[in-house]
Formats: sequence, structure tokens, C-alpha cells
Amino acid sequence: MSNVHVSQHSLIAHKLSILRDKRTSPRQFRELVRELSALLFYEATLDLPTTPLQIETPLQTMTGAEVKEKVGLVPILRAGLGMVDGVLWLAPDVQVWHIGLYRDEHTLHPVEYYNKLPVEPTVSVCLILDPMLATGGSAVATVDILKRWGVKKIKFVGIIGAPEGIANLQEHHPEVPIYLAAVDERLNEIGYILPGLGDAGDRQFGTA
Ligand code: URA
Repeated sequence: MSNVHVSQHSLIAHKLSILRDKRTSPRQFRELVRELSALLFYEATLDLPTTPLQIETPLQTMTGAEVKEKVGLVPILRAGLGMVDGVLWLAPDVQVWHIGLYRDEHTLHPVEYYNKLPVEPTVSVCLILDPMLATGGSAVATVDILKRWGVKKIKFVGIIGAPEGIANLQEHHPEVPIYLAAVDERLNEIGYILPGLGDAGDRQFGTA
């Protein structure tokens, strides 16, 4: 799977195992989503370009580095919301744009219900945040929206991906790199990832 980056980090594997456990409380689940998101964001921004920056240490002048790229986060409501905080902890100046999509229970296709993007893009790179890349329908629809908005560079950051969702996103948008903590076995008949972790929104917000 080219353009799919599955973390090999032990900490991520450890935290993901606790996240999956059905006994994990919503409070701990939210905390783990936050931590995993920060770690995955770190991996997903490895190649962000930097420009040279003159700085003065207490001892002498030197050339440091500065990330000039304007980064936008696009959490897919509602489960993606829990991923924002972890990223903001590492990168407090990024913009956060909300796009609301829900999955029609019968067709499993995404339906847009919230989108307040301004006419002109205000960022040069967008990171779509959604913990579960299941059918890939929401991810494909979000990339479609961001491309229409005019964003040139788009990445997807999730926690667990299903082979079906990865294939769908890659078929429609092969240039969008995908960053995940794990790739699971498959989807069940109602679009949940197996073995997965259940409903990421319900488990974060205690609504199961
Ligand atoms: N969304 C979830 O929250 N969980 C899944 O397994 C699939 C989609």
C-alpha cells in the first residue's frame, strides 16, 4: 500500500490496545485519542518544509528553522473532534475548520450537513482528522470539498483503517497520504471495523 503510513511506534501500539479494550472508560478513551492524535500528527508532519531562521542563542547567532506552511485541521464531526486537542497541544497556531458529515444508515454514503469554509482557502495544507477510516466515504467526500476549496496539499490522519476504506480513498484520491496507527481486518455488514474499537464517537462522548 503506497502512500499509507502505518505507525511502527511501540507507544502507539500500546496506547491503541488500551483504546480498543471495551472496559476503557470514556474519560480514558478521550485521553488516549488525544495522545494518539498528537503522536500521529507528529508522524504526519515529518516532511513539512521549513525555512531558515536567524536566531540568537545566549552565546552566538545561528540559523534555525521555521515551519512557514499554514496548516489547517479538518476534523470530521463528531468523532474527529476528539483528535483536535492533541494536535493543538503540539501546534497551537493551526487553524481548525469544521465539516459535518453523517453516514446514511441505509446507503452508508456521507451526507454533508455543515460547511462554513470561506470562499478562498486560508491554509496551504489540510489534515483531515477522523479516528476510523471505515468505508472511506466521509474521507473521500471531505477531500472532494477541500479540493474544491482550493487546498493543494491534503493528508488524512486516522487511528484505525479498514482495507476497504483505504482502497476507497486511494482509488479516488491517490495523492493523499494516509497516516494510521493500525490497519484492521475488514468491515462488518453494518460498516464497523473489525476488530476495531466500536463506535469512536459513542466511546468518546459516553453515548453508547
Ligand atoms: N465508525 C466508528 O466509529 N467505528 C467503526 O468501526 C466504523 C466507523
